Amino acid sequence: MSDLRRRSLFTGVAGGTLAALAAAAPRANAAPGEVQNIFSAAVAWRQTAAERDVLYIQGFNLAKARLDAALARRRPHGHGRRRKKLAFISDIDDTVLDSNSYWALLLAAGKQAFDDPMWDEWVAANGPTATPGAVDFTHYARRRGVQIFYVSSRDQGENTQKYGLANLRHAGLAFADDAHVTILRDSSNKEPAQQAIAAKYDVIAYLGDNLNDFRRRYYVNSVTERKKLAMEDARHFGSDYILFPNNTDGHWLKAIFGDSEPPDSPEYRRRMLLAALGKVN
Ligand SMILES: [Mg+2]
Repeated sequence: MSDLRRRSLFTGVAGGTLAALAAAAPRANAAPGEVQNIFSAAVAWRQTAAERDVLYIQGFNLAKARLDAALARRRPHGHGRRRKKLAFISDIDDTVLDSNSYWALLLAAGKQAFDDPMWDEWVAANGPTATPGAVDFTHYARRRGVQIFYVSSRDQGENTQKYGLANLRHAGLAFADDAHVTILRDSSNKEPAQQAIAAKYDVIAYLGDNLNDFRRRYYVNSVTERKKLAMEDARHFGSDYILFPNNTDGHWLKAIFGDSEPPDSPEYRRRMLLAALGKVN
């Protein structure tokens, strides 16, 4: 913005057009495209920031390095037969599958909160694509004899597993089969499924976009408590916990609202603003 433009904007506001600006501020039932949506900046970042893509690449590069190191540690000892096989445990959505196009649909429809029917329709239509670097990583692991187990919480009814497998295959990811895909319809608690895998495999690292993908204990209704728990586990991050970015959904919302998918309401919007102001603990 030029200095001239900046000045005229400022002059305009100072000169009494504040009411006009206020009139153009977000309204509850505004048409799509007319005014800002709560999620606009977050989704714009997801869609456009090279930095966001690089965070995925960085995470998968780290996973590859951890895989290489785990293989290197095994070779000199030669006890491979008696050891558990190496594996990763990965979340699906926003870890290996990208939901940017869902968020774009949500905004285009003028929605300001996560919308389950739209999500289910998008999942069934194979909306997801692979996140940056995910296809390469999963095939890298497969070529080296390291398995990837996907553990996800989703619920599209009877077809949940079918859709999940179809999404993974459509995106070109390795290990898109029933033996490697566990989808929990009744709970977002992944620990029992993860522990069952860890009993049989030597887990190199957990991959996820939600702290709940690593430990259930982060599933709390407090921003402060959640941050405290994460800091207690600091040594795990970049080691056996590899985190990917998600600025539109996840249990960070549960910490704010007490609900991971709060419905749109005036109270929801008020509390989102308070959170943005740093006033929700
Ligand atoms: Mg996820």
